[in-house]
Amino acid sequence: MYDVNEIRKEFPILKQSVYGKPLIYLDNAATTQKPRCVIDAITEAYTNVNANVHRGVHFLSQKATEQYEEARATVRRFINARHAHEVIFTRGTTESINLVASSFGETFLTAGDEVIISTMEHHSNIVPWQLLAERKGIKLRVIPLTADARLDKEAYTALFNEKTRLVSITHTSNVMGVTNPVKEYIDIAHSHNVPILIDGAQSVPHKRVDVQELDADFLVFSGHKIYGPTGIGVLYGKEELLNRMQPYQGGGEMIQTVRFEKTTFNELPYKFEAGTPDYVGAIALAKALDYVTSIGVEKIAAHEQQLTLYTLEQLREIPAMRIFGNPDGAAISFLVGDIHPADLGTLLDRLGIAIRTGHHCAQPLIDHFGIPGTVRASFAMYNTQEEADILIAGIKRVIKMFG
Ligand code: PMP
Repeated sequence: MYDVNEIRKEFPILKQSVYGKPLIYLDNAATTQKPRCVIDAITEAYTNVNANVHRGVHFLSQKATEQYEEARATVRRFINARHAHEVIFTRGTTESINLVASSFGETFLTAGDEVIISTMEHHSNIVPWQLLAERKGIKLRVIPLTADARLDKEAYTALFNEKTRLVSITHTSNVMGVTNPVKEYIDIAHSHNVPILIDGAQSVPHKRVDVQELDADFLVFSGHKIYGPTGIGVLYGKEELLNRMQPYQGGGEMIQTVRFEKTTFNELPYKFEAGTPDYVGAIALAKALDYVTSIGVEKIAAHEQQLTLYTLEQLREIPAMRIFGNPDGAAISFLVGDIHPADLGTLLDRLGIAIRTGHHCAQPLIDHFGIPGTVRASFAMYNTQEEADILIAGIKRVIKMFG
């Protein structure tokens, strides 16, 4: 049994009122709220465990190190990586992609090489590659969309040539909530001997993602979008690739020996974790993943999908409603008539409804549609059908105001 009301009790922030109305939080694609166990894990770590990891022989440092490495093992299990040392802790999806662009780019790419991305990428899976293109003279190739706003598989297949070195695409669009059949895209890349990075920022929180089953070379995601804290995220990479890649940042922890003549680097995963890591964040992220596992990833997915379908049905009955793409997960982007998304967002906010408006850090996709932006409602494990009803009623009220 999936008891959403019991789940809601675990999220203290949801009890809030805004402008005298119960908070309806539908901006989960931007960030999720935190359950009590995650908030408590942060307090507990600072209260009883805090000491710098991997550095001290003393009791506390060993305890902190143990919990940090246990957190890595929890992430490994969650995404079914082969080894814990294939899990690198970063600040989040953005830093993970920058790490790959920088380290993979410096190690393997030279002028004229090509990287394939897609039209529906978040800026964090566009700009790092553009910066690399400027530095190294590589070329970006962009997968176009079909008429119904899906990735164009034929066009993707045709983009490969002897210069293609890497593919980097999103699993689920943060704007449209559409999930790409990435397994097929991975297999196509591999048939050309090209590795592929999957941006899991919007998929890992909403479905079971198994890196071995997918055979993804890299998978990135953010802790804060899966009920964990901000400032912590994950880069999964296949051992063989990570071992061959240059370090990303230099500093403490990532070295074996430092001499002015020559410095040697630490083994995985530490080679990519320069400086004091956010070990408290990692410990709390592991708590969040354990919490998700205890409820059941599949059950959460089913609940969110049912909510998405229900909301879509109601939205489609509103005249002049335009829904972008084919949402199948937990986010829906829409526009109503010529009401500006910012106006709709502001008025819904006054009704206590938190939704996101604008370009959602995916300007090329918004340009593709030729619109100023969208209104996006995105769901999490704690959202309810009543909240969807209040959203729909709110939209109808705003439409009336605009005549
Ligand atoms: N990729 C996608 C698909 C996203 O939705 C987001 C966050 N909106 C990011 C990357 C960037 O994540 P972060 O800001 O946590 O680094």
